[in-house]
Amino acid sequence: MTDVIVIGGGLAGAATAFYLARDGVDVTLLERADLNTVASGSNAGSLHAQIPHDPFVRKGDAWAAAYASTVGLLARSVDMWRGLGEELGADLEVKLGGGLLVARTQADMAAIERKAVFERSQGLEIRILDRADLSREAPYVADSLIGGAFCPQEGKANPFAVAPAFARAAIRHGATINRMTEVRGIDRERDGYAVSTERGVFRARRVVNAAGSDAGKIAAMLGANLADVQAFPIQVSVSERIAPLIPHLLYCASDKLTLKQNGVGSLLIGGGWEADIGPNGTPVANPQSLRRNMQVALSVVPALGDIRIVRSWAAFVNGTDDWKPIFGELPGLPGFFVNFFPWMGFTGGPVAARLVASMVQGREAPFDIDLAPFLPKG
Ligand SMILES: Cc1cc2nc3c(=O)[nH]c(=O)nc-3n(C[C@H](O)[C@H](O)[C@H](O)COP(=O)(O)OP(=O)(O)OC[C@H]3O[C@@H](n4cnc5c(N)ncnc54)[C@H](O)[C@@H]3O)c2cc1C
Repeated sequence: MTDVIVIGGGLAGAATAFYLARDGVDVTLLERADLNTVASGSNAGSLHAQIPHDPFVRKGDAWAAAYASTVGLLARSVDMWRGLGEELGADLEVKLGGGLLVARTQADMAAIERKAVFERSQGLEIRILDRADLSREAPYVADSLIGGAFCPQEGKANPFAVAPAFARAAIRHGATINRMTEVRGIDRERDGYAVSTERGVFRARRVVNAAGSDAGKIAAMLGANLADVQAFPIQVSVSERIAPLIPHLLYCASDKLTLKQNGVGSLLIGGGWEADIGPNGTPVANPQSLRRNMQVALSVVPALGDIRIVRSWAAFVNGTDDWKPIFGELPGLPGFFVNFFPWMGFTGGPVAARLVASMVQGREAPFDIDLAPFLPKG
């Protein structure tokens, strides 16, 4: 019998195991495959703070008002990212060069300004830029772009490094990590839960469900309903290495785009473009999405015309329709917690894990954040 079982070895699970173990809790993590093999190790490495523009345009002001509290969480997480490498004793390649959202039209600018009202209400710094600002601060963007917004609290980190660094640090603090240990069933017992896996039954007083896009399936093992949790196949591409060109995390208001340059000089280009599901059920890049993603990127950064893409890949991202995280104990299942940060769970991973690790211990969260909007619904 261990004190806490964490299900899932992505960023959410590894980071939750770390914070629990560092607090002196006896914790065992169960991962179906290897660590960091689903969304956490396949993502684009962007550290976001602002409200994503695409759902803002599609869903409107009422959605943004409901979503705004998540901006506070993301900003708090970015603060944690600043010191995370030192805390974990690893180079996570964190760079906060700021996020730049560019506009093609006056309608884009109007939407950017409306969105900034919600963002500033959460303490985010948003500077509205005109054409002259773009020429001075981002000379690499197309002349046809008319302005945009700059958020200094955004940037990037290396997704290959982060969850493994959390896992290594968790082990140093006494956590046990079991790879190749798929959870197949969970039963409630008098003093906790019995978790059945392909390698036997593990018992714990408390369980954290950090299974990402499979969190709904794990909850269903106890008859609980996380109906909103879904898996969306999306894709990212990477270019050959080039000389420093783009210091920002770049977005475009009129099309789906994220674009940044990583530590070795490659450009990572994505923005949530839809991938296909391959014959064995895993995501594979969709050529049509690749073409459209590249067209958008090229229209924003003309210099891309001379740069080759070397690889595209796809993975399931954990998503929900309302884009809001779910943290906390499931109603009717005492000791059974969820740590689920949709769409931007790379950025939100540290804050989510710290919050859930505190909740599991029945402790006050170490930040002044109203958790009510994120608690699982009954
Ligand atoms: C292509 C792509 C690009 C992205 N870009 C960004 C970005 O730039 N910035 C950002 O903030 N976010 C981004 N995201 C989102 C982000 O990666 C995810 O939200 C985040 O990694 C989720 O972490 P997680 O640990 O909850 O899930 P995952 O990393 O998916 O981990 C869940 C783990 O649970 C395990 N598991 C599932 N079922 C079981 C079971 N039955 N038994 C045992 N283990 C199980 C899985 O094997 C997996 O390892 C992107 C996602 C994708 C796919």
